[in-house]
Amino acid sequence: MIEIADPRGMRAWSRDRRRAARRVGFVPTMGYLHEGHLRLIDRARRASDDVVVSVFVNPLQFGPAEDFSRYPRDLPRDRSLASARRTDCLFVPAPPAVYPELPVVRVLPGSLGDHLCGPWRPGHFEGVLTVVAKLFHLVEPDVAVFGRKDAQQALMIRRMVADLDFPVEIVVAPTVRETDGLALSSRNAYLTAEERRAAAALSRGLAAAHDGFKQGATAVADVVGEVRHVVEREPLLRLEYVEAVDPNTLAPVTLVAGDTLLALAARAGATRLIDNIVLGDGLAGDDRLDRP
Ligand code: AMP
Repeated sequence: MIEIADPRGMRAWSRDRRRAARRVGFVPTMGYLHEGHLRLIDRARRASDDVVVSVFVNPLQFGPAEDFSRYPRDLPRDRSLASARRTDCLFVPAPPAVYPELPVVRVLPGSLGDHLCGPWRPGHFEGVLTVVAKLFHLVEPDVAVFGRKDAQQALMIRRMVADLDFPVEIVVAPTVRETDGLALSSRNAYLTAEERRAAAALSRGLAAAHDGFKQGATAVADVVGEVRHVVEREPLLRLEYVEAVDPNTLAPVTLVAGDTLLALAARAGATRLIDNIVLGDGLAGDDRLDRP
């Protein structure tokens, strides 16, 4: 595995691979890698010849009161995990290399930022889309893989690529979970043992809603009520939102008809956790959610 910090070096490496008729796959991350990230690497490997993984904690996507400075970082560990998963190139640019100046021109999520996490994290998705656009220009991948755990983000990236003609194929891979259902996240490292135990109620709530749906509940009020019922029994969790939305537009729906994205965010102490499932046909498919 080669490690590159210089953005121009990254682009040169990638162009070189493509000149050799190699298909370049890309997995952008903020590091502190876990099995969720590693499955994206596996997925990228299946879709390409050479896999680039970036580790970059993007300051632009953190609000002033958020956890940028204490976000978990462990590059030596990331290095060995990525390498063991047969990553070809680890791209680890320093913030000043990515942002010699604060970008004035940015990528906005438009109406996709009006729902779910958007109102709770002002400027967050603008920061995400802007850095992903920059990373796409630096890595020039043929295919890039994102996790469905961040369904809103994945949808926005698909739309950015479609709307702005980025020459890259986007693959969205399933959420990887702990055995009790908690979605893997670098932020799980913040949780105390008690919070960690309580956090399992998030996926339990989504599973209860899924059961309700399978038994015939289609009114969103009922489906959302199932989630609330489970999560609100945990005093260590504070729900920010539970919403059922159209997986392509993120507009709220009142009836579950066709694929519906059921998404939530909650706090366990100071730690913000998100999770989602798809109700409807999308549950079976790997890359089917939010394909425009
Ligand atoms: P992050 O490092 O949290 O910015 O995540 C980098 C990529 O990994 C994003 O595409 C995430 O959606 C994806 N990811 C994070 N957690 C998971 C998970 N539990 N399952 C699948 N993908 C994940």
